[in-house]
Amino acid sequence: MSFRVAIIGAGPSGLAQLRAFEAAEKQGVELPEVVCFEKQADWGGMWNYTWRTGLDEYGEPVHASMYRYLWSNGPKEALEFADYSFEEHFGRPIPSYPPREVLWDYIVGRVKKGNLRRFIRFRSPVRDVAYDDASGKFTVTVRDLTNDHVYSEVFDYVVVASGHFSTPNVPDFPGLTKFPGRVLHAHDFRDAAEFAGKTVLCIGSSYSSEDIGTQCYKYGAKEILFSYRSKPMGFAFPEAFSEVPLLLKVEGKTAYFKDGISKDVDAIIICTGYQHHFPFLPDDLRLKTNNRLWPLGLYKGVVWEKNPKLLYLGMQDQYYTFNMFDAQAWFARDVMLGKVNLPSLEEMQADSQTYREKEESTISASEDIDFQCGYIRDLLGLTDYPDFKPEIMAEQFKEWKHHKEEDVLTYRHHSFRSAITRTMAPPLKTPWMQQLDDSLDAFLANN
Ligand SMILES: Cc1cc2nc3c(=O)[nH]c(=O)nc-3n(C[C@H](O)[C@H](O)[C@H](O)COP(=O)(O)OP(=O)(O)OC[C@H]3O[C@@H](n4cnc5c(N)ncnc54)[C@H](O)[C@@H]3O)c2cc1C
Repeated sequence: MSFRVAIIGAGPSGLAQLRAFEAAEKQGVELPEVVCFEKQADWGGMWNYTWRTGLDEYGEPVHASMYRYLWSNGPKEALEFADYSFEEHFGRPIPSYPPREVLWDYIVGRVKKGNLRRFIRFRSPVRDVAYDDASGKFTVTVRDLTNDHVYSEVFDYVVVASGHFSTPNVPDFPGLTKFPGRVLHAHDFRDAAEFAGKTVLCIGSSYSSEDIGTQCYKYGAKEILFSYRSKPMGFAFPEAFSEVPLLLKVEGKTAYFKDGISKDVDAIIICTGYQHHFPFLPDDLRLKTNNRLWPLGLYKGVVWEKNPKLLYLGMQDQYYTFNMFDAQAWFARDVMLGKVNLPSLEEMQADSQTYREKEESTISASEDIDFQCGYIRDLLGLTDYPDFKPEIMAEQFKEWKHHKEEDVLTYRHHSFRSAITRTMAPPLKTPWMQQLDDSLDAFLANN
């Protein structure tokens, strides 16, 4: 087949795209020339841990926002690949909430089975993407970090799979410049043990705030405060946790909150989310959105409506992750292979608008989960990605929410049944709070 595809990023989304092409190849489809550009030295995206923060050894912004001791924050059964189960990978059932390294091993296990590294150029950040109307092609400019060389190549399609949890969104608060303790954004948080014995203020009421605060407590922090803008998380927290309203200012060690509350704190972790940031894309190709379930401009959440040769993966806010990226990648592949006939621009925009209106009408987390489930069901009807029963997973997400509301320290003790293999996961053998070594070896030996 005589066309070229550039994929930007070899995280779960970019790898899903490679896997989708591989699946077509196995069915006898002649593949286009596929090149995946990855700025890190290895694959796995966010799941590829590094101690580094700020800039890497080449002066590139460090992609990773994951930290040591991070465990899956949702049941693994709800993110399982349809074509590669956890049981197939580990050779036995494992508990529902594994640590990061276990999930990284699972993600790369699937792509190692195929010969997918051949498509990837590591240490290759994409610098620029330009579309030429006359030729109908993209020029992709890349920096080869190893050889310190910048070059350009021409492609027919570009798939943006660069993630959106890497560029921090960092508000300022009066007094932070003079605060005598550590101030950092969640993106730069790595090791909870650093905060042992301290009173830690986590700003934000998102997953990362709750998880980072909980990790700090697990590794010895004395007290955790969560500051919320609009509403508290409302989970049943241990006594050492409290929720406080919006931070107004800091004076010395004292943090002042709305409603007249104040408290001395030792460290401040700003957990206020991330920006969709695509410094390599020009305005007319660039998705501009906040983190939400239905960003506008993408037909079926994937195809850039104004130029369908540009595709995006994994750009939504996510309940579903790996298997949703797969369903998207299979759809993107079929668009590129010409198996999907795209409707007119007006029809694509109308379809997206219908989704947006549905998204805006949801009023609870349960409805949000059903919304994303419905979207995946729609995608599954358009491709031959195996039906992984997203409806079963939707119920698992709802249960998970409920478990978390009951107790943030024990929700990981629950077990779920795989929708793929129908096997029930075993429980953790010792309480999560006592499992301090989060390495793959320790997890498999102890559970
Ligand atoms: C702290 C944290 C905890 C999380 N916990 C969970 C969890 O428990 N369960 C879950 O399912 N999900 C979790 N997630 C969500 C996680 O982001 C997704 O699971 C998944 O990693 C998204 O995959 P992706 O491929 O879209 O993006 P990423 O994993 O971010 O991968 C993008 C890849 O693109 C590369 N890249 C970026 N820019 C360029 C460029 N210009 N040129 C070349 N390469 C580039 C990056 O180096 C990276 O390898 C978490 C995220 C964070 C930040």
